[in-house]
Amino acid sequence: MNYRISQRAASLSPSLTLAIDAKAKQMKAEGQDVVGFGAGEPDFDTPQHIKDAAAAALAAGFTKYTPSSGIPELRQAIADKFKRDNGLIYKPSQVIVSCGGKHSCYNVILATCQEGDEVIIPSPYWLSYPEMVKLAGATPVILTTSDKTEFRVTPEQLRAAITPRTRLFILNSPSNPTGSLYSREEIQALGDICVEKGVLIMSDEIYEKLVYDGAEHVSVATFSQAHYEHTIIVHGLAKAYSMTGWRLGYLAAPEPIAKAIDAIQSHSTSNPTSFAQKGGVAALNGSQDHLPIWLAEYAKRRGYAHQRLNQIPGISCVNAKGAFYLFPNIGKLGLKSTDFCARLLEQEKVAAVPGIAFGADEYLRISYATSMANIEKGLDRLEKFARSLAG
Ligand SMILES: *Cc1c(COP(=O)(O)O)cnc(C)c1O
Repeated sequence: MNYRISQRAASLSPSLTLAIDAKAKQMKAEGQDVVGFGAGEPDFDTPQHIKDAAAAALAAGFTKYTPSSGIPELRQAIADKFKRDNGLIYKPSQVIVSCGGKHSCYNVILATCQEGDEVIIPSPYWLSYPEMVKLAGATPVILTTSDKTEFRVTPEQLRAAITPRTRLFILNSPSNPTGSLYSREEIQALGDICVEKGVLIMSDEIYEKLVYDGAEHVSVATFSQAHYEHTIIVHGLAKAYSMTGWRLGYLAAPEPIAKAIDAIQSHSTSNPTSFAQKGGVAALNGSQDHLPIWLAEYAKRRGYAHQRLNQIPGISCVNAKGAFYLFPNIGKLGLKSTDFCARLLEQEKVAAVPGIAFGADEYLRISYATSMANIEKGLDRLEKFARSLAG
């Protein structure tokens, strides 16, 4: 039998992060004392009132199909959130609830990009963006940044990359994997260029609430009506409410794009899980009191990890302004990031994600969504490993 795999599927890169993750899990299962810096999700539990709302909906029999783009109550709660937090006015019909922010991203790319189109993606990037672009038949155009600019593209870089084929620019601030955050002025400058050139912006704002030191998150859609009309905001509940396993994300878009995504979703996944959506309503409309507590904890861990990393010979690390990742530069230690992470896991039992997974081979991603005790232990071991390499 010839199991011919479609070109679409065959064009994808297998997830590098999964190989290390699988090895780390296997080592843990064997009883080894592995420290995990790989987590792409909060280590806190979902707040109780959110779980209660979903449990009540389940108990009440809210277990059937819902409208494929989400229940009206949740689409309204999302529209209210954009008004309250961002001063943005969306009608519920411009809001689509999907099965995770990742699904929202994929829907946006499928609805707007096709063969011959180019999509500009700053690197280091969230690893799914280029693969989603390829699945849509379009071509990723990578704009390389480094720690020297705190991983931010400049307006000049963006302008130079735009061609008549450019369809979409992907902006992710705060960023996974670097934790970098663009300032108001920088976001506006990038947005201005997209408006001038007629390029759509997919703004992934899933880390909106996770910013430190009083920094502000600004949505590119807020600068003018033109910016609003060029922007599709992708968002979700996973990071700010620790709801990664619930699979609930959302987007807000100009009406024609929302309509197209509604059609795509109605023929693919249909609605996100019915009772999970009731939890989503409780998350957005209910108490936000957990957030300052989580932020204070993340900030403490970030401060400690950032300082420790910079004390390790051969490693330097810019501080993150948002999300829950640090992205230290390991280039001076002379190993490719995949080798570095494989040996770090083997020798010191520390799991981190190689930067190459995000398009940046001189770095590692360290998630501090884990306990302070784990962070201390893991960094002790990383230091020992780095010293052994530095000789
Ligand atoms: C976590 C994450 C998402 C969405 O995750 P879901 O679990 O699918 O909601 C989207 N973008 C980035 C950059 C992320 O890190």
